Amino acid sequence: MALTGLFGGTFNPVHLGHLKVAEEVINRLPLDRILFIPSYIPPHKDSVEVVPVRHRLKMVEIACRSHPAFMVSEVEARRPGRSYSIVTLRKLKRSRPEDQFFFIVGTDAFLEIETWKDYDQLLRECSFIVVSRPGFGIKSLQKVIERIKPAAILVPGRRSVLKTEKLLPGSLFLLEASTPDISSTEIRKRLKAGLPITGLVPPGVERYIEKYKLYR
Ligand code: ATP
Ligand code: MG
Repeated sequence: MALTGLFGGTFNPVHLGHLKVAEEVINRLPLDRILFIPSYIPPHKDSVEVVPVRHRLKMVEIACRSHPAFMVSEVEARRPGRSYSIVTLRKLKRSRPEDQFFFIVGTDAFLEIETWKDYDQLLRECSFIVVSRPGFGIKSLQKVIERIKPAAILVPGRRSVLKTEKLLPGSLFLLEASTPDISSTEIRKRLKAGLPITGLVPPGVERYIEKYKLYR
């Protein structure tokens, strides 16, 4: 049995904000591993600017080398079409019925949870870990939390690590963290304008983007 975090996203490209999210989660919750799951075509985004999934997978794989518990999953990337979290979760549950799953999302993404397919079932079948993002503190979730009524709300402290018995499915974990103010949108804009992206992505990802001339 493993406690597995599921970190979905377009990762177009993966950046140091994503890695900080995963680091905060692995340091503050007793998860065994975090699967980064690049989506094939993002459900809520137009696909024009999205580079092919093989590039996004490779960049995430490079980024995941920074921590032994971080790994990339091709569960969504390999299936052409839109990826819905509920479908992904059930697929992963079938392949690892013993595992307990935790979706990891930034506050901006969780604010839109009610637009996700079968979100009410999703919220019951796994737990969510919501990590703050600059401009979107945990307080911004108040209204949505009132509407979705999670089974339990847990706020792990900066130092204390939560005990495993507290990890019931249907829980909502709220993590106020200081993640850097970086977005993939900003990185794509900088690359288009010929500006450097040093310090925004891991060095290996920067070299990969340079090598394949992505986002030009
Ligand atoms: P884009 O600008 O293309 O939307 P992004 O930087 O938001 O890219 P995504 O792939 O959309 O990255 O995000 C994947 C997940 O990571 C989402 O849950 C998002 O909220 C979270 N996330 C991304 N960047 C940060 C950040 N700097 N701090 C906290 N969470 C983040
Ligand atoms: Mg985004």
